[in-house]
Amino acid sequence: MNRTYIGNIAKKHFGKQVMVEGWVADVRDLAKIKFLLVRDISGQLQAVALKGMIEDSLFRKIGRIHPESAVKIEGKVNKSKQARQGFELQIQKLDVLADSKTPLPIDTSPKSKTLIDRRLDYRFLDLRRSNIQAIFKIQSTVVNAFRQFFMSNDYIEIQPPSIIATATEGGTELFPVKYFEKTAYLAQSPQLYKQMCAISLEKVFTVTPVWRAEKHNTPRHLNESRQMDIEVAFADEFYVMKVLEEAVKYIVEEVNRQNKKELDILDLKLKVPKSKYFSYKEAISLLKKNKIPIENGDDLPPEGEKKLEELYPNTIVFVHSWPVKLKPFYIWPKKDNTTGGFDAIYGGIEISSGGQRVHLPEILEKQLKLKGLKPKDFEYYIDSFRFGAPFHSGWSIGLERFTMALLKLGNIREACLFPRDRIRLTP
Ligand code: ATP
Ligand code: MG
Repeated sequence: MNRTYIGNIAKKHFGKQVMVEGWVADVRDLAKIKFLLVRDISGQLQAVALKGMIEDSLFRKIGRIHPESAVKIEGKVNKSKQARQGFELQIQKLDVLADSKTPLPIDTSPKSKTLIDRRLDYRFLDLRRSNIQAIFKIQSTVVNAFRQFFMSNDYIEIQPPSIIATATEGGTELFPVKYFEKTAYLAQSPQLYKQMCAISLEKVFTVTPVWRAEKHNTPRHLNESRQMDIEVAFADEFYVMKVLEEAVKYIVEEVNRQNKKELDILDLKLKVPKSKYFSYKEAISLLKKNKIPIENGDDLPPEGEKKLEELYPNTIVFVHSWPVKLKPFYIWPKKDNTTGGFDAIYGGIEISSGGQRVHLPEILEKQLKLKGLKPKDFEYYIDSFRFGAPFHSGWSIGLERFTMALLKLGNIREACLFPRDRIRLTP
């Protein structure tokens, strides 16, 4: 008999035989009746066995199944007023495909009270919970919608290297790796490579892992994360901010279209966000007016980002024209000591940074020195701008950061399958 996914069982199956495979979420072992809550990736159902209706040995076995064991059940679908789905499965045959050890190391029910650290120690089991599955089903939609958006707009997907020779923004946040006789580093960003692609391929995007050896342990930082990046030639920062706005709106629309069930499970309603643009100076005075302790020249503190969300709910807030001091060397400096750099804040947290880049070798050298870096270390990169490199702009959205903002998760680790942080390297 072919397998039927639980989520596909409908009226047309009533009174018919089906075979389902999945995990036992719960067992209720009563004298004359046994209930199994069975789930697969598509949903869950109640399976029942009545004493006298099946062999006695099977009846007893059902009551003793360990929760989270993988099972295969054949039975008849019966309409049921009591069952939440409106039907139940009357068990006729049952095989335990893989027994589960008992007791379970974590509570696998959706309302689990197990603390996040322990849940992450047993992430494979945590992934049995429907609300955790919902997060990663939605994240899968996010990445795919990102790809679709840029593919359908004629961008080229590129695969930048992850082992690199020099830092993008100075050496302190890099993980060194032994590379034969040399020391290399894990890429903290595809920045330099996507630029070197854009000055010939014009419109590129990538989804790529990055590594940052930041020692702080916060609810919004990981040491390994994934970035969704673009880079566009003949474009300034305002052009790519608009692109970001459209891409994020498209992603939210797609999540709404494809993940109704998951949003329900998470008890979330998503609205396509609006957008708002401020210069850095405007943003600082707005925050000052709203009693955030901040001065001209400061980076936006987390409480400032939260305040922007409070003032402009469900809005992508762009802060552009940042001072040179606060942006990396590759961001285009302007005459008034501002830059072509911007940040995008959504859901009260920075989801993206971007800007117009420096495409002139002399200015790049000047900027590198200004930031205390050695132009010699970046020779291959600087030289790539000597052969007709047009002005160009781009940005980077952190995938886990975006998922966290979109789904209002309190900790970025909830948006990462197997987080790497200051202390966690396993599983
Ligand atoms: P933040 O100020 O929030 O620490 P950043 O300005 O250092 O971030 P960028 O270099 O601008 O980070 O990186 C681009 C995007 O990647 C960020 O806007 C964010 O969405 C994401 N990101 C950056 N650092 C991390 C991290 N440590 N963990 C997870 N996501 C990150
Ligand atoms: Mg940033």
